[in-house]
Amino acid sequence: MAGMRFFAPALFFAPTLAFAQAAILTAPPDFPACVAQLRALAQREGISSETFEATVARVDPDPTVIEAMGNQPEFSTPIWQYMSALVDDKRIADGRAQLKLWSPTLERAEKAYGVDRHVIIAVWGVESNYGKIMGRRPLVRSLVTASCYGKRQNFFRGELMSALKILGSGDIEAELLKGSWAGAFGHTQLMPSTFHRTAVDFDGDGRRDLVTSIPDALGSTANYLKLAGWQTGQPWGYEVKLPARYSGPSGRKNRQPLDDWHALGIRRLDGKTIGGEANAALLLPAGARGPAFIALRNYDAIYSYNTAESYALAIAHLADRLRGGAPFRKAWPTDDPGLSRAQRLELQERLASQGYDVGEPDGLIGPRTIDAIKAFQVTRGMQPDGYAGQRVLRALQSPAPAPKPK
Ligand code: CA
Repeated sequence: MAGMRFFAPALFFAPTLAFAQAAILTAPPDFPACVAQLRALAQREGISSETFEATVARVDPDPTVIEAMGNQPEFSTPIWQYMSALVDDKRIADGRAQLKLWSPTLERAEKAYGVDRHVIIAVWGVESNYGKIMGRRPLVRSLVTASCYGKRQNFFRGELMSALKILGSGDIEAELLKGSWAGAFGHTQLMPSTFHRTAVDFDGDGRRDLVTSIPDALGSTANYLKLAGWQTGQPWGYEVKLPARYSGPSGRKNRQPLDDWHALGIRRLDGKTIGGEANAALLLPAGARGPAFIALRNYDAIYSYNTAESYALAIAHLADRLRGGAPFRKAWPTDDPGLSRAQRLELQERLASQGYDVGEPDGLIGPRTIDAIKAFQVTRGMQPDGYAGQRVLRALQSPAPAPKPK
């Protein structure tokens, strides 16, 4: 979701509906007074009163948005868990099919913006699963809610005004403007303000429609990455090997010339030499015992699209895999790797068939699934941490051990 700093796509954690908390939050602010403020702001921004009265004036606050704003993740998810679902065999196969399907469009995008087609498709795949998960909440209602409640009202008021300008321009039909609770929408989950900076009409129908036009979405993604400083023909980076007991600098912001990394003993796994003046960072997303990466300028362009290291690395790696590249050579430092989406579904189906309540199996590891995993772990004498990994899946696949004779 381009332009956002603090929201990860809700791919893994279904919302916990704390209705009691939402009810408390819906009561205090004076909503009609807030709408009056928004009306005055819209007038100053040159938004027509027709647009405002047909949209903002007709919505009520969405309690699920208020609830989502207050939610903190219950625990931090290890990066290998994100990577195993964001870059799984199915997403690679689906992405290769899309590469074929949209080949002429992608060729035009490469020529117009100089951005590698595999990266364009990888952004699409990670942001919305190639258009399958674009968010279902009416965008204006979500943004009005976030403009009147919570801690970032000024930010969301700006996004609301941007959304109203999209509707005023006729680029996207009002009833189709739906998205995440935080305002990201369309095939590549742009924020409304980012839309105005980066969206292009790439199918030539005169409208920039990132909801129904895949060519517009792909062209706009390429334009976004170009504006973010994409360097044509350069890789995002590559996996590297650290010298034994490496304790030098790392992290996205610790940049230095490739020659300096070489001098520290960092080596490419494919045998090519690291060298030159180009600035690069050394990424150790799971510490020095896990995979290590040299990240070049194009990694930062991807990172700006969705400012979370796990998502940027997923987009970068998915692009490499779509191109025919290999999985990471070094294993993540865990004895319990994460699950693909197919395996998440299997996990839920096996829990359900053994009598645990996981709701409708949907591949999303929400609070009910986590509780079910914990209950199952107890029956097997495992630590009840609720972690949806390979170990608990293997336990579910094997019959319960016979009770010990007394
Ligand atoms: Ca168009």
